[in-house]
Amino acid sequence: MSIAQNIVLVQQKIENAAQKAGVSADCIQLIAVTKTVDEERIMQAYHKGLRHFGENRVQEFLRKKEILPKDIAWNLIGQLQTNKVRYIIDDNLVLVHSLDRLELANELQKECLKKDAYVQALVQLNISNEASKSGLHEHEIEDFFCRVQALDRIRIRGFMTIGPNTDDEKEIRGVFAKTWRVFDTYRSGKAGFDILSMGMSGDYEAAIAEGANMVRVGSAIFGDRD
Ligand SMILES: *Cc1c(COP(=O)(O)O)cnc(C)c1O
Repeated sequence: MSIAQNIVLVQQKIENAAQKAGVSADCIQLIAVTKTVDEERIMQAYHKGLRHFGENRVQEFLRKKEILPKDIAWNLIGQLQTNKVRYIIDDNLVLVHSLDRLELANELQKECLKKDAYVQALVQLNISNEASKSGLHEHEIEDFFCRVQALDRIRIRGFMTIGPNTDDEKEIRGVFAKTWRVFDTYRSGKAGFDILSMGMSGDYEAAIAEGANMVRVGSAIFGDRD
């Protein structure tokens, strides 16, 4: 299957999942995850109309954004080291998905002040409490929000999570459902807090069923990474 065919298939599945969940597919943002994918193949997705792309390495993101069209909306989805923050604050970057600690928030604030910029971010959650995963645990969220409130250069747009690494559909749905409940609690009264980024190639339909409005899909579009 070509990248173009894969995109049609993924879009169809998003459409179906959205319909089942009772929402319009227009309300679900597809992020095409382009890590390790070369520019020529990314352009095939671009020509199919995709504009929202996600990278997980700062170096790779910087290289690609120089070469690729300027109307691409870039998302940084991977763990972000504080010493890389100064490279990423610029106009092309739309959303950081992986705000997972106060130290990173402080660095983002500092760098934004320096550049007179703002940054939009999602707070990464680890609701399933998997030791291998970064992200805030549920009991840490309240305190984190309280502290980040003072950092006026950071616009927190919602939450991001990575589903559990299992084939157990019920377990996956359970984690997504729980993340949605936390999202639903925190969004009330917060203007502009409206993004729930969850679901990857293996579980984006489950994520949409449980209320995701942003999905990050790589291999289902570009094929397996080696
Ligand atoms: C790699 C990655 C994805 C996409 O993974 P696929 O399984 O290839 O769809 C999504 N989110 C994050 C955080 C990733 O690192």
